[in-house]
Amino acid sequence: MVERRYLFPGVLEMNYQARRRMGVNIYLLDGGSEYALIDVGFLDELPDVLELIRQMDFSLSACKFIVATHADVDHTQGLARARELLKCEVLAHPAGVAAIEEGDEILTYARIDAQSIHIPMPRCKVDRTINEGDVLTIGDHKLEVWSTPGHTAGQLSLRMGELLFSGDNIFRDGSVGVIDAHHGSNLVDFIRSLKRIRAADVAYLLPSHGPIFRKDDALLDATIARLESYSHLADFGTCAVDWPLMDAWEEELARDELRF
Ligand SMILES: [Zn+2]
Repeated sequence: MVERRYLFPGVLEMNYQARRRMGVNIYLLDGGSEYALIDVGFLDELPDVLELIRQMDFSLSACKFIVATHADVDHTQGLARARELLKCEVLAHPAGVAAIEEGDEILTYARIDAQSIHIPMPRCKVDRTINEGDVLTIGDHKLEVWSTPGHTAGQLSLRMGELLFSGDNIFRDGSVGVIDAHHGSNLVDFIRSLKRIRAADVAYLLPSHGPIFRKDDALLDATIARLESYSHLADFGTCAVDWPLMDAWEEELARDELRF
């Protein structure tokens, strides 16, 4: 048996609990007679994760549901096996269902040919879709479902009182989840989601990667400004809204005023 290391009342996280980096953050919400998981990570780590849950004296059968914050392989590769072993529902945003159920290698980042990355992405049934405004209960805890697209169309955040499980929206160093057109990223949506988080009266952000941190408005402002600049630069290609350099060049060409 190991002692439960609660981050907040009712909130455990597996990397923190194990005191080692296992992979993506896997939150366990303890509702007393039942519990829920937010993400499950890679299949390779799943046996250790389940063993840790057992060692903390939770019964595997008491898992009520697993929320997939989004479809990326590092968050969902172990989902099908976890669903089978825990015999619980898998919940995801409607925009993430196809990628999870079909094991889409491109949308989930399981396959990046140019970098010789190709890892298995087992298909998993999504038992229930959840979307903006839904409220999930786990024991006495209430989880408000937020749709926060940008990194992917189906990216979810979950609010529990002053805590926001913020997915891949922002990390402690101000970086954000990958922005990539092939992955379904949308910069305009991403900025909107970050502004929503900035405006929220939550005290702590519990991201899907790395340490949890106090909500820091200056950090959010700097990140929002950075993404706004991306939307007018070529850096993220077709994810950008426009490229003012091309408009300026067009005018310079028309006026025959090219100087350098
Ligand atoms: Zn991620």
